[in-house]
Amino acid sequence: MAASPAAARTIIENCAIATVDANDTEYASGHVVVAGNRIESVGAGRAPEGLEDVVRRIDGTGHLVTPGLVNTHHHFYQWLTRGLATDHNLFNWLVALYPTWARIDEPMARAGAQGSLAMMARGGVTTAMDHHYVYPKGSGDLSGAIIGAASEMGVRFTLARGSMDRSEKDGGLPPDFAVETLEGALAATEETVKKHHDASFDAMTQVAVAPCSPFSVSTELMRQGAELARRLGVRLHTHGSETVEEEQFCKELFGMGPTEYFESTGWLGSDVWMAHCVHMNDSDIAAFARTGTGVAHCPSSNARLAAGIARVPDLLKAGVPVGLGVDGTASNESGELHTELRNALLINRLGAHREAALNARQALRLGTYGGAQVLGRGDQIGSLEAGKLADLVMWKIDGLGHSTIADPVTAIVFGAAAPVTLSLVDGKPVSRTTT
Ligand SMILES: [Zn+2]
Repeated sequence: MAASPAAARTIIENCAIATVDANDTEYASGHVVVAGNRIESVGAGRAPEGLEDVVRRIDGTGHLVTPGLVNTHHHFYQWLTRGLATDHNLFNWLVALYPTWARIDEPMARAGAQGSLAMMARGGVTTAMDHHYVYPKGSGDLSGAIIGAASEMGVRFTLARGSMDRSEKDGGLPPDFAVETLEGALAATEETVKKHHDASFDAMTQVAVAPCSPFSVSTELMRQGAELARRLGVRLHTHGSETVEEEQFCKELFGMGPTEYFESTGWLGSDVWMAHCVHMNDSDIAAFARTGTGVAHCPSSNARLAAGIARVPDLLKAGVPVGLGVDGTASNESGELHTELRNALLINRLGAHREAALNARQALRLGTYGGAQVLGRGDQIGSLEAGKLADLVMWKIDGLGHSTIADPVTAIVFGAAAPVTLSLVDGKPVSRTTT
C-alpha cells in the first residue's frame, strides 16, 4: 500500500507522537511523512533527507500528533434541540422531544449536520458518523443532505441509516406520525446504501443499516434489517442496553433481556456495533466477545440521562471492540469527542474497578483505534502506521492548559481540552488554526 513516488508529501516533525499501534509506540520527538492520502513513514527524530515533492513542511514543536479521532455514535439533527428536557431520563427525554424532531426537513437536517460536523472537526475528529433515524413523510432527501454536509466538511463519514416503525399504537415510544412503515424503511435504507456506500480502502463515505432501538422498531424490522445489511455487505448499528427502563421493556414485551433479544433477531456479530451497552451482565459481555460485536461507549450522554456506567474495563478484558461516541447533542450538549477521552476515564473510575479502570493510553486508544475497529476500518485508520490512511491530529500542548504536564498523552487526556492546530483527513487539511 505504498504511495506512488509522485504523490505530494506533507512532513510534520519535531513533535511528540503517539502512534496507537499494537505496541503503543511513542516518540518524544519524531516525524510523520504523508504521501498523497497515505502515511509513508513515522519515526524518531527528523524526517529523512532528500524527500521530493514536499508541499508542506510543518514544525510540530509544542505538539502531540495522534491518529485522528473516530466518532462511533452521534445524531447530528439533535444540534437543533440542545438544552431541552435537561432533567429527564432517556424515556421521558425521548417522549418530550419526539414531537419536535418529527418536524425535521431537509434544510434542518443539513444545518444540524453542519453544526455537529464543525464541532467534530474542531475537536480532532477525522471520521464522523451520524445515526439518523427520523424520516417523517415528505421531509425530503435527509440522508443526501447529511452526506453532502460531511463531504463539504472533508471528514471521513459513516451514515448509519436509521429507522423507526414501532409507534405508540404498537406499544413503542415514538408518536405515530414520526415513524416509517416496515417496507418503506427497508426500501429507503437499501436505496441509500446503493447510492452512497463506498467499500473501498480509502472510502470517504460508508453507510450502515441502523434501526433505532428495541423500543421504537418492530422485531420484523430488526430481523429484516440484519438480513438486508448482510445481503448488501454493510455494517449494522443500533442502540442497546442503555437503561434499566429499556431492559424492563424488553423483558415485558419479548420475555428476554436486550442482548438475548438482539441475538434472537440476528443482531450479534462482528459486523455489528451498538451504542451504550450500559446494562450488561457477565453472560451478555461474553456473548458480545464470542460474536465480536462492538460497543460505542458514550460516557457523557449516559451521565446526562442518568443511564448508568458501562462496564468498559470488563468489555475490554473480554476482548470486545470498544470505541467512543459523543451521542446526539440533545443529550451531550458539548458535541465534542476529544473531551470524551477524559470523561470515559473519569466515569469508569467511578465504577467497580476504581483507579485501575482505564489509563490515559487506553482512553486515547478508545477514541482512535477502538473506534476504527468498531466501524470495521481498523486496517485503514485509527493508528499512525506506514500504509494506513493519513488521518491525523496535531494537538497544541505547550499552552496554559497543559504546560506543566510532562507526559503528552496525559496532557491531552487529563488536561484541558487541547486545541487542534491541524487535522488531516485523507492527507488534506480539514481543521487548521494558526499559532
Ligand atoms: Zn444515540
